[in-house]
Amino acid sequence: MFRALLITQDENRQQTASLTQLEESQLPEGDVLVDVHYSTLNYKDGLAITGKGPVVRKFPMVPGIDLVGKVAQSDSDSFAEGDWVLLNGFGVGEVHWGGLAEKARLNSEWLIPLPKGITARQAMAVGTAGYTAMLSVLALEKQGVTPDSGDILVTGANGGVGNFAIRLLHGLGYRVVASTGRMDQSEHLKSLGASELIDRQSLSEPGKPLQKERWAGVIDCVGSHTLANACASTQYNGVVTACGLAQGMDFPASVAPFILRGIKLIGIDSVMRPKADRIEAWQRLSELLKPEDYEVITQEIGLDEVVSSAQNLMDGKIRGRVIVKI
Ligand code: NDP
Repeated sequence: MFRALLITQDENRQQTASLTQLEESQLPEGDVLVDVHYSTLNYKDGLAITGKGPVVRKFPMVPGIDLVGKVAQSDSDSFAEGDWVLLNGFGVGEVHWGGLAEKARLNSEWLIPLPKGITARQAMAVGTAGYTAMLSVLALEKQGVTPDSGDILVTGANGGVGNFAIRLLHGLGYRVVASTGRMDQSEHLKSLGASELIDRQSLSEPGKPLQKERWAGVIDCVGSHTLANACASTQYNGVVTACGLAQGMDFPASVAPFILRGIKLIGIDSVMRPKADRIEAWQRLSELLKPEDYEVITQEIGLDEVVSSAQNLMDGKIRGRVIVKI
């Protein structure tokens, strides 16, 4: 028997998430059995556990889109018993049982080796949020945005992606402007490397199609009017990455910044990202992050605190990253 958080749905489509004991034989199919050491609580996990978003596509479901653990059994040539492995996304915690359990049976194609220079706990401090922040930074770099190009705007700054984006950009020498609804966290955001803070309200209402050119690059976690306004104030040839929808899934923008200023909008998907991109992103993370970076951004909870923390996350009461010690 092992402990797992299980989301079930009744005949009225009401869902419940609770800690339960499962048997190994109940685990879904896969060629690698993993003893999970750490998982995390991402925005998507919050949506799944509280039922606030249609993340879970098959019930019952063990949530948890990230996990790190040791291989307990392997039918794959890629991994052997005792190997440390890392997983982010690939529908785990949505269509396949995920990381918020002591054991997980997984497809070896989804796993990458835990990168050298990162501990299991640190990998989950990064989690999908930090890995998505890295993918966003890599996208800016690949489009030629350098620290000399100008300021970079990070929206949803107090979230997991936002915190890591600020830290990574600052470490690379960029000047970062953080947009947040929690100005009381300004000291924290400055300690991560934000040079300037703006109130997210200045971006969240409908705005003009073209505004003063301010940003060489944008890492947007929020979507909706915020993303539209960010595009409208991006400078000529600037680059905007879009990974999130914390404000909304809509994108009420005009083509003006694209056809008059040549800006580029790059979509960031972490879930189905090919293995080579994952390995590149994790390699860069292991090079760029210092041991203290993980601690500033992180709080740790146990499996029995996940449900209440998920509600707090949805209520916007959590800053940075939540690691779940399994
Ligand atoms: P968090 O919940 O940790 O942070 C989201 C942040 O967005 C909040 O901290 C808040 O920042 C801001 N925010 C919340 N509500 C609103 C609102 N109504 N209007 C404007 N800003 C708001 O989430 P993550 O950082 O983990 O993820 C950020 C987004 O990216 C989410 O939408 C998530 O689903 C998405 N995501 C996408 C991935 C992909 O593969 N594309 C992977 C990972 C995440 P503040 O308090 O500073 O204002």
